[in-house]
Amino acid sequence: MAEPKKQCIHCSVESCRHLQQEKGLCSLESIQVSPTPMAYSGDPADESMCSSYECR
Ligand code: SF4
Repeated sequence: MAEPKKQCIHCSVESCRHLQQEKGLCSLESIQVSPTPMAYSGDPADESMCSSYECR
């Protein structure tokens, strides 16, 4: 299996406890992105969401 790439996760979800607000970055090493229950509309906002989100 290939080594995972080093990525920078930019985010602006202010209600998430993993957001480093001053930097606009997620503090996690990786996140899980999942389809939403409203998938298949074709609108990006309907198709995917961060499953690593945790409320502050
Ligand atoms: S866990 Fe998801 S929603 Fe929370 S800061 Fe990271 S990328 Fe944003």
